[in-house]
Amino acid sequence: MVQAMVSITQGACTGCDLCITFCPFEALLPLTERPADHPHAKRPVVVVEASCVGCLSCIGSCPTEALHEVLSPPNNAESPLLHPPPPPATEAIQRWGRGGTPWS
Ligand code: SF4
Ligand code: SF4
Repeated sequence: MVQAMVSITQGACTGCDLCITFCPFEALLPLTERPADHPHAKRPVVVVEASCVGCLSCIGSCPTEALHEVLSPPNNAESPLLHPPPPPATEAIQRWGRGGTPWS
């Protein structure tokens, strides 16, 4: 079996935040700042690769189809998941408990 994870085509992300509630691992988080060249008014959401387990629960949740599956190489030694990049600066989202943004 080939391990999967997801990626977001940043230019297609409108920052609607809909996908955030579909991730049980809090791997989908908004950037703290909107990149200057981002084509939409709101900051985008990114995949925090170190937190993404590739469960694919979020696939299909994006209305602009910005989320897509990325297959890792069959050889685990070549997996990008072994060396995830430093996480970008992201906003904290309260997911659980009173007032939290729950699971969709
Ligand atoms: S694949 Fe799973 S863990 Fe990764 S971002 Fe989507 S819902 Fe979260
Ligand atoms: S659902 Fe799609 S457009 Fe909305 S924040 Fe997530 S990736 Fe971006």
